[in-house]
Order: sequence, then structure tokens, then C-alpha cells
Amino acid sequence: MSSMLNRLQRIVQAVRHAPDIQHALDLIADRLIIDLTADACTIFLASTDDTEELVLKSSRGLNPDINGKVTRRFGQGVVGLIAARAESINLTEGTKHKCFILVPNSGEDSFPIYLGVPIISHRKVLGVIAVQRAGEAFQEDDEAFLNTLAAQLATSIEHAESQGRFKLVGSGTVESATHVVKGVAGAPGMAIGEAMVLNRGANLASVPNKWVTDSDSEIRNFKHAIRNVQEDLTTLAERMRDSLPEEECALFIAYAQMLNSGSLIDDTLRDIEKGNWAAACWRDTIEAHARIFEQMEDPYLAERANDIRDLGHRVLRKLLLEQSLMIDFPKQTILVGEEISAIDLADVPSDCLCAIVSAHGSGSSHVAILAHALGIPAVMGVPNLPVKQMDGLKVVVDGYSGTAYIDPNQEVLAEYCGYLEEEAEIELDLLSLQGKPAVTSDNHAVVLRVNSGLMADHTPSLRSGVEGVGLYRTEIPFQIRDRFPSEDEQYYIYKNVLDAFGELPVVLRTLDVGGDKPLSYFPIKEANPFLGWRGVRITLDHPEIFITQVRAMLRANIGRGNLQILLPMISGRKELEESLTIMRRAKDEIEEDFDQVISMPPIGAMIEVPSAVYQIEDICSVVDFVSVGTNDLTQYLLAVDRNNENVADLFSSLHPAVLKALKQIAVGAGYSNTPVSVCGELAGDPLGVMALLGIGIDSLSMSTGSILKAKKVIKSFTMTEMKSMFDVAVKMSDSSDVRRMYSERLDERGLGGLIRAGK
Ligand code: PEP
Ligand code: MG
Repeated sequence: MSSMLNRLQRIVQAVRHAPDIQHALDLIADRLIIDLTADACTIFLASTDDTEELVLKSSRGLNPDINGKVTRRFGQGVVGLIAARAESINLTEGTKHKCFILVPNSGEDSFPIYLGVPIISHRKVLGVIAVQRAGEAFQEDDEAFLNTLAAQLATSIEHAESQGRFKLVGSGTVESATHVVKGVAGAPGMAIGEAMVLNRGANLASVPNKWVTDSDSEIRNFKHAIRNVQEDLTTLAERMRDSLPEEECALFIAYAQMLNSGSLIDDTLRDIEKGNWAAACWRDTIEAHARIFEQMEDPYLAERANDIRDLGHRVLRKLLLEQSLMIDFPKQTILVGEEISAIDLADVPSDCLCAIVSAHGSGSSHVAILAHALGIPAVMGVPNLPVKQMDGLKVVVDGYSGTAYIDPNQEVLAEYCGYLEEEAEIELDLLSLQGKPAVTSDNHAVVLRVNSGLMADHTPSLRSGVEGVGLYRTEIPFQIRDRFPSEDEQYYIYKNVLDAFGELPVVLRTLDVGGDKPLSYFPIKEANPFLGWRGVRITLDHPEIFITQVRAMLRANIGRGNLQILLPMISGRKELEESLTIMRRAKDEIEEDFDQVISMPPIGAMIEVPSAVYQIEDICSVVDFVSVGTNDLTQYLLAVDRNNENVADLFSSLHPAVLKALKQIAVGAGYSNTPVSVCGELAGDPLGVMALLGIGIDSLSMSTGSILKAKKVIKSFTMTEMKSMFDVAVKMSDSSDVRRMYSERLDERGLGGLIRAGK
């Protein structure tokens, strides 16, 4: 058993580090001949244009001339049968099977024993792997092995294939037509700009290619980094001599000596001279050397591949450190990365940042919410995003459909330039709504507030005519520091926002960290962070953090009076009562410290945990208002991680189950006349606005960029229309039906441009 696992791991590891798809496939074929004692191995891949055609990409043990020349349609031949049925086939007389088509002059007629399995990723057949031999039939174990391998390799193959179509040639031009990648819509809008790949993680695998004109300076940087690492290693070995076993110290010395090694240095220098930057050349050298070790049969030597990679990372960190000091951001920067964080956004000067494209994450990840707040489009969760190859390339980002066009051709560029012009017209039209009240066409007033926390400048939202801040995410000022902010620091932040809105209410939410909002200085390690120590659960366990924050809020409210406090992640009344006890203590302290009586501001609970929906009446009996966090509520109700791109398609706040929960909240809170607002992303989605008003929720909080769009929608329908649309939506069984119904209604009013590129 463990030997099967070892064999699997070795192949998967080797494929992961293969430089391109062809090497990966050849490597798999080589290994399978050995591991399954086969005489021949063939690997067919499906064409990527959905034509259901399979092409022989790699073969071993047969006439090598056939590679690339044999094709089969799905359903044609045994290979096509495997692809069409998406099932493996194990035959003792494969060559006699009624579907078998002999490849002429291949030599396969000598190998009648046949075992083939499909390669499937995300419900799609990517290809077929088959092994053949003369002699004994393949056993069930062999079939299980090949099936397991194909399942494990599917994502790597998909990834390698997408990278393979994207090869750099010559001096940095790219041999490809427009490369279209599809993720999920993160934040609406469109942009045309230049990709900039950040290398915060200093991970060799994610270093992009970057063609430079000054190779001499790259060589200098490289030699400097090597010298630095050698010195570090020697010092480390000296320092650790007394505390580490001798062999560990010897490893440091061995590392330092490896950096004297001719081939590691010479190979890299040779590549730098061809025009790529030092980090990418170093990446390739390290990979090539590590692969040689990895393929060795002796487990001790194979293990040395890890040492090489470790050394590679050390040098890379030094190289990037020098590089990061001289980043020159393009005017229209499109930030591209495997996983873009809030801190990455902060690294780019705001007048340069025009879009983000991230391989991981989804539309409700916090970084997407931040992009929305900044008014820039975001495409999230793009499987197989060729991050390494994208640096410096032109990219068109469509944040409405979640699509990015890499190295777009003239046609795509012209199309999107047209859309951008149309969008500018729509925006001009929306500007006429600034300062106008948000009322439905049958005169129902709707309260629109803004979500804030990132931007210091509140002028744009005030100009749009918002009636205050519906959600101020206080964790953002906590995240951009390297320690907890003091009471005074927080006091000034809160005072500024309360001042900016004058009489208008400002809802400050207490610290909501945990889940996908980490604090670098307060690390939490959990198997299920979203079901773990988050939001109010942390602040209740750390009353010193909680009380400092509430004191700062109450102090900021002295002489102002527009503060409201909101508690996140409330799952029941007990947490509220405990929070209220601490908040009252903070109030008593402030009264004593400042020698004056202050009033308690309105206190609200976020409704974002399903238990709170079912206990809404109980919760309303102890708070002054509730605000629904549809992002988390959707994640918990549908059991769909808001950050996981594998299930991003399943995340929809327009799901009928979420709509039913929202209705239940509105009805439950209505018994005690407790005001209900919504501050999740649904409130800023034009379709969400229609649904929420239909439920009777008429207080919405959203990003600044959504305010005028929401106003447009509100003014275009009557409340009666939206109520009857909701009655239909809530009876549907799938969120795509709900989305389609609302989109059609929006289109009928000529408002399709609010939810897609172009008018
Ligand atoms: C929500 O969950 O909908 C919400 C508004 O809070 P956050 O996105 O900050 O978790
Ligand atoms: Mg939340």
C-alpha cells in the first residue's frame, strides 16, 4: 500500500516541477512503463476548444513518429470510448475490441493487453492515459493505481497545459493569440492595463518571467545575492555549532559550498545573458537540478531535491528583496497573483492600480470586497492562471463576467474600448442622480449607506448622497499595522469618520478578525478558520482588546452623537449579553475618566450565522437594530467557503434559501419593530437591490461605487413590482433561475449595462 502511495507521490511531484506540459506527459509515460511493467504507454489530451477531439501527445514503447499525428473523436476507438463514457476500460484482448482502431505502423498490435483511464478535472474529460503490454492481464490493483494517478494529475495537467500554451519566445514576445481565462466576478467594472506580478511569498514556483534590457545589473544583483546567502549560511553554521547536532551544521556548510558549484551559478548566468531577469533564471536552474535528484531511485539522493529547492528559496528571497526596492509600477497596473492580499493592494500606489486578477479566492473574499470599495474591477479564482508568464503583458479585465483577456488581440481591445466608452456614458447618466433621493417610482424612500474602513476620503460617498456609514470594518486599520492599535490611535480614526459624516449615523463594527482576515501579530492556526475563532468570539475571549476598542469608540462619540456599534458573528443572545456587559463597563470607565455622563449609542447585531436567523426575535429583544451580513450568511447557509474558488460557482446570495432566510429575518425583526439593514455585498448588487426591496428591507449599505447604480434601480421600479418579483423568486429552486429572472427584468428597463460590460 505504502509503496503504491510512494510511486504515486513520486510521479505527482515530478510532474509538478516539469517545465512544460510535454515534459510532464513524457515523464508520466516513462514512469508508467516502469511502475506498471507495461510495454507501451500512450497519453491523449482533449483539444481545449471543446471540439471533443483527442490528440496523441506522448507515447513510449511505440513508434515515436506517431506522436502528435493520431487523433480520435470522443466515442471513436477505445480511447474515444473511455473519454465519452468518462470511465476506465481494462481489456485482455484490447486489439480485438469492437471499437479498437489500430494505429498503423505503431507496433501496438504486439501489445493486446490494454488498460485505459480518463483524466477528469471539474467534470471535464481532459484526456486519456493508456498502458498496453503482451503477456499477463492488468490487475484490479493496476487499474486502481492508474485511476488514482489520473485523478491526482488532472489539475497539474490542466495547469501545465495552460502554462504550456503560453511560452515566451525570443526577447519576451508571446506566441499566442488572446489567452482568455475565466474566473468569477470579484468586483464589477472593466480595465485595460499592464499585468504586474507581485512576489511577496518568495516562492520559486510562482516567479514570473520578466524580460529586461539591463542584463549586467541582473548579473550584479544575482552575484550579490549569492554572496549574501553564503555569508548568512556560514555565520549560521558558526552560531549554531553549540546548539545543533553536527550534521545539521554541516548541512549549512554544504549549502554554502553548493553556491560555489559551477553549474548552479554558470547555468543561471548563461540564462540571464539571454535576457530574462535573475529570479526567473535562478528558478529554472534550481528546478532543473532538483529534478535530476528527484528522479534518482535512491531515496536519500531523491530527498536532496528538497535541499536544492530550500537553497533556491534562500537566494530568491535575497534577490527579491533587492528587486522590491526598485519596483516601478505601470500607470495602469493590473495586479496579478496566485493569492492577492489586502496588503498587496496597499503596496500599489492608488493612482496606478486599475484592476486585480487572482488565481485564488472568490467574489466574496475580502480582497474582492476591497477592490469593490476602491472602485476597481476584480476577477477572482481563475483556475490555471498563467501567473508566471503574465508580468508586463497587456490584460483586459472584465469584472462583470469574471473574465481576463491576456495579451488581447486588436478585436478584443476594440470591443472593450467600445464598452469602456459606453460605461463612461452610463456613469455620466448616473452622476445626474447625485444628491437625489433614493425613492422607488411609487415613492417609497430607501436608505442608502456606505460600507467603509479602507478609505480615508469620504467625499465621494457623501457626494453620491449617502445617509451615513452602514458598516465601518474596523479590522482594516488593525490589519495594516504590525501590532494592536492603541486606544488613542483608534480614537483618532473613529473620530475622523464620525466627523466626516456630521449628523449622519456611522455604524462602527467591533473587531472582526479570524476566518480570512488575519492579523500578522496575532496568528491563529485552525483547521476550519471560518468555523473557529472569529469576530465576537475572539473579542469576548480577549476583553482587553474589546474594551480598548469600545472605549475609543465611546470617546470619539463625545460631543458628536452619531455613533452606532455593531457586533459581528453573533450566534445567539448570550454572546450579545456578554458583549453588552463589557460595553457598559467601558461606558462607566469613560464617564469616570472624563467626568461626564455619556449615553450608550444604539447597539446592533450582525445577522450572518444561521442560528441567529432562527433566533431573530430573541436577538432583537436585546439590541437596537440588526444588520445582515449576506456574505457570511450565504457561506454558512449554503456550506460554501466564500474564499474557495473550487466552489465559487455555488456561492450565490440570490439562492432561494438565502432569500427565505432574509425574509424570515425581516418578519422576525418586524414583530419588535427592530430596524433591519443589509450590509453584505448583496446590498450593492443591482439584482440584490431588487430582491431586498421585494422582501421589504429598505435600508442598504454598500461600496461607494454601487450607490448610484442602486439608486438607478430603485428609481426604475415600483415597490409593488419588486414585491411580486420576490414572490416568484423565492419559489424557484436554483439561484441561476433567480439571477436570470431579475436580469431579464433589468434588461426590460434598459438597465443591463449595470450588470455587464457594455450597455
Ligand atoms: C458579511 O459577512 O456579509 C459582512 C458584511 O461582513 P464581512 O464581509 O466583513 O465578513
Ligand atoms: Mg461577515
